Amino acid sequence: MNTEQLLEALETANRAVLGSEAEIEGLDRHIGDGDHFLNVRRGFAALLAMREELAPLPVGDALKRMGQKIMTTIGGASGPLFGSFLLAWAKSAAEAGQVDGANSVARGFAAGVAAVQARGKAGLGEKTMLDVLIPVARTMARLVEEGAATSEVCERVKEEAWKGMQATKDMIATKGRAQNLGERALGHIDPGAKTAQVVICAVCDLVAPGAGTTTGMPEKG
Ligand code: ADP
Ligand code: MG
Repeated sequence: MNTEQLLEALETANRAVLGSEAEIEGLDRHIGDGDHFLNVRRGFAALLAMREELAPLPVGDALKRMGQKIMTTIGGASGPLFGSFLLAWAKSAAEAGQVDGANSVARGFAAGVAAVQARGKAGLGEKTMLDVLIPVARTMARLVEEGAATSEVCERVKEEAWKGMQATKDMIATKGRAQNLGERALGHIDPGAKTAQVVICAVCDLVAPGAGTTTGMPEKG
């Protein structure tokens, strides 16, 4: 992955998130405080406003600047979590010396997810974005390790993202604001998980157009 591809992914993810405004916004109104979509939209806008500054940078430096920006400008629980994700990916990229190839993307993504877990002190099954991020990171790492084709990695990653997002519907939150709702949160998808799924599916569709089912994936029975 180079910086041009990173910026293209950023624009694609932004479009996808804006296209899912009603859904994401509605979810945080149900089980949060209604600001999640706003936080996410502000985050993307802040990053896209840095395009010119980011474009000439090596991808690791670009990820680092993006992470710093999100950490310092976006509030809520999700701001620092997404910021940590980007900073950890940047660190992994710097350590690897370069971030080309599926292996480094898988490593960077996994490092990002580990940082979200550490910062949020959360794991699987707590009705957060991690219910999407953790299975996606694991699947990506495993398939890349096995040398799977990009289209297959993307197809499986989209499936995992979709399943993880849907699974939050039947969970009781043990982290974040929704934990105050107890069983009243049942039946509602976690907004952060939805955002993560939308972003991941959109980037997969960019990287491997037409691989498997697309972003509007219907609920599987
Ligand atoms: P806030 O909850 O502070 O209003 P947002 O609305 O922007 O922040 O983000 C809420 C989302 O953040 C939740 O839907 C959930 O996915 C995620 N989240 C909250 N707490 C945690 C945590 N401890 N670990 C991981 N993700 C979390
Ligand atoms: Mg909120």
